[in-house]
Amino acid sequence: MLEKVLIANRGEIALRILRACKELGIKTVAVHSTADRELMHLGLADESVCIGPAPSAQSYLHIPAIIAAAEVTGATAIHPGYGFLAENADFAEQVEKSGFAFIGPKADTIRLMGDKVSAKDAMKRAGVPTVPGSDGPLPEDEAQALRIAREVGYPVIIKAAGGGGGRGMRVVHEEKDLISSAKLTRNEAGAAFGNPMVYLEKFLTNPRHVEVQVLSDGQGNAVHLGDRDCSLQRRHQKVLEEAPAPGIDETARREVFERCVRACIEIGYRGAGTFEFLYENGRFYFIEMNTRVQVEHPVSEMITGIDIVKEMLSIAAGNKLSFTQEQVMFRGHALECRINAEDPRTFIPSPGVVKHFHAPGGNGVRVDSHLYSGYAVPPNYDSLIGKLITYGNSRDEAMARMRNALDEVVVDGIKTNIPLHRDLTRDPGFCKGGVNIHYLEHLLAEMKAKQ
Ligand code: ADP
Repeated sequence: MLEKVLIANRGEIALRILRACKELGIKTVAVHSTADRELMHLGLADESVCIGPAPSAQSYLHIPAIIAAAEVTGATAIHPGYGFLAENADFAEQVEKSGFAFIGPKADTIRLMGDKVSAKDAMKRAGVPTVPGSDGPLPEDEAQALRIAREVGYPVIIKAAGGGGGRGMRVVHEEKDLISSAKLTRNEAGAAFGNPMVYLEKFLTNPRHVEVQVLSDGQGNAVHLGDRDCSLQRRHQKVLEEAPAPGIDETARREVFERCVRACIEIGYRGAGTFEFLYENGRFYFIEMNTRVQVEHPVSEMITGIDIVKEMLSIAAGNKLSFTQEQVMFRGHALECRINAEDPRTFIPSPGVVKHFHAPGGNGVRVDSHLYSGYAVPPNYDSLIGKLITYGNSRDEAMARMRNALDEVVVDGIKTNIPLHRDLTRDPGFCKGGVNIHYLEHLLAEMKAKQ
């Protein structure tokens, strides 16, 4: 097993990784910015190191500071968590070149999947179904571009190869707008991502977001841990997730699982990963792969009983997967509400001191959060302050437990989106299951109109 892990992250995911390390008897090094001296996991880690001032660019994104912290503390491996440097291929490369194990895929894999054109191409070759489109970059030649779009059929979406976080995308409904939209997206992509390459896809009008969790040891063994539905999104940001995705065609599901596992083996994937798909009319269409642990990983843990972070640590230590696909048992249903420090109506961030925090409890309730009474949520970072996860034998049972948990939880002193989650878990449309990616935005617009 690994000896000592440096956790290059903050907040709930840093605490999550720390807990997994402690369970496995691995020593831990926490790193933090000057704005994060009060983080809960610092006191639980064997050592903690301040790596810089509050702005992420000078701390959590500052590669030399993190590597220096690993060197001075004698860490043997680095876990990047999610966000920050988790999908930065240069970071993974420097970590390994400096003699530490990177708890994630090889740098080349991160690079391949970070370019959406090469990722899509690799997946297509591995037999994973993709959204019909330009098969590579959209040509600059206008006649060629127009021909491709016509073949694909309008509406189409133009996407930046280097895009991420829901940015660098433009929907085109009519042929007359194609060339100007392509130019605009190219210019924006060049400025925002340093890569002007764009590609074109059929724009699916009412898809769901369904993703597949995988674990692969890079030694020829890979498994899937089922799917998750993350269709409840606001501005392409996930709000509430669940596993399994309700009402999916079983044949399509089995086939997509098998393809994802095969793709992992073909590309020599190492670690935890997620294949993201749009799902429409009973079919899956690959959009991208995330080469890291995801915020919503707990719902897959709840329905399989497998600890994804512990398995990541084991794989990074050079071990083979500790179980086979046949040993993965899917049972029950899990939901996750992302709790953000923000106004539930305007979504404006609401940092500040948490005067009182009371965690919910009971059968099937899990709280992944770094909050405690008296903790000051700093204004510098993402507003996620915790995740409420519930499990039940059925979706209805998980939902009833989530409603209870949301009624019990108390976060005083700052505004949170807990009232929004209370509404969502009582919304008849969502309770029925299988809503599409536009559902939440429509619901929010309706709620606003009623105010
Ligand atoms: P990012 O890396 O920026 O998150 P994605 O490729 O994952 O970009 O797409 C983000 C979101 O944009 C998707 O979840 C979906 O809501 C929308 N989207 C992307 N591609 C399409 C498409 N071909 N048709 C319809 N919606 C799309």
